[in-house]
Amino acid sequence: MSASSALKRQRVVPGIRKEMTGGGSKVWSEITELARLPTIIADLGQGYPDFPGNAAARATAADVIQNDSRLNQYSLVNGLPALRQSIASFYAHAYPSAGKLDANTQVVITSSGTEALFAAIAALVEEGDEVITVLPSFPWYSPNVRMARGVLKHVTLDFPDFKLTEAKLREQFSPRTKLVVINSPHNPTGHVLSREEAELVAKLCVEHDCFCLSDEVYEQYVFNPTTHQHVRMCDMPGMRDRTLTVGSASKMFSLTGWRVGWLHGPEDLIAASKTVHSFGSYCAPTPLQDGVRAAFDHATKHGLVRSEHNALFQRNAARLAEALATLNVTSSLPEGGYFLVCDVTKTGKTDVEFCHFLAKERGVVAVPMSVFFEGQPVSNLVRFAICKTEQVMDKAVRAILG
Ligand code: PMP
Repeated sequence: MSASSALKRQRVVPGIRKEMTGGGSKVWSEITELARLPTIIADLGQGYPDFPGNAAARATAADVIQNDSRLNQYSLVNGLPALRQSIASFYAHAYPSAGKLDANTQVVITSSGTEALFAAIAALVEEGDEVITVLPSFPWYSPNVRMARGVLKHVTLDFPDFKLTEAKLREQFSPRTKLVVINSPHNPTGHVLSREEAELVAKLCVEHDCFCLSDEVYEQYVFNPTTHQHVRMCDMPGMRDRTLTVGSASKMFSLTGWRVGWLHGPEDLIAASKTVHSFGSYCAPTPLQDGVRAAFDHATKHGLVRSEHNALFQRNAARLAEALATLNVTSSLPEGGYFLVCDVTKTGKTDVEFCHFLAKERGVVAVPMSVFFEGQPVSNLVRFAICKTEQVMDKAVRAILG
């Protein structure tokens, strides 16, 4: 190549890669490497189920892919009308006092919960808007806020109960607050927002005239219905018109590879999110949308309001916590969700050191929780995925016990 033809233009937009990190991408890639070690016995790192996803969804999508030429093409931007109707019916059935969503204007189907978060944040946040998130948190919220040129404000929650308190939350609100991101059941802590906590968020949102993005992808995973129920932010006083809710077939129907998610909420916020989504992926995969439609119809008809997997996940968490106690690790038993969070302080190791030890010496992969803290100096917590079969958990427990 001659010197004159060499490309001298800046190749990558400055800052974009910095915006798109959660402060822990090096740690994530180390963990991914560890998970590939041939000596690994149980990978409890990433939160994906290791059993087949919803049967009605799979059977329907397989049939559609083989036999229905129309449903192998684009759907409407906001998704298959039949799926939006099924979602509206499911929620009306599951939360009867809330009234029924208008399937045409109050629901949009996205290509995953991840894309729903991106669309909602891009639709709501502009330069200088303050956005409150809770730490630890799912590491996708903050990069989206940074890309929208928003200003992040964090509320840090404490092990072991990870409860939101008025003092901590109120401190982060200002006249510039535009959005509060809430996630319940929570990844990674397994905390299920109580009605009091949800009412507190609602009170502050109303007081400061701001919006709530409520990530409820784990809504079906609340373990003990006598002590905890899923509380929807959109049902809190004054919140119907200021809440966008995220859902996902990844979690609801154990279909993480399908990339089908949804948003529901007020018409103007849904319309704006739909515009972002149209330029992101245009529409979610059509045959898979029809599969998810079948899963919702089945769930509404047969009364699936709690996931069939809750008892298994809760048992997995308890067994894992008991085994980890033999290594001097203290657990915070989850109220819901896909994860168990542990404090490794008493082992004398940091989270990263402990995860290396566990992977190399015992063959079990976990995630150091510093990746969920946006660079804040928290290095004593570790996350284990509990959304696994009994057989995988048997292996993990045996390996931990040595
Ligand atoms: N929100 C939370 C809290 C999550 O944990 C996840 C996935 N792990 C998502 C959203 C996104 O899910 P998906 O993109 O698979 O729909």
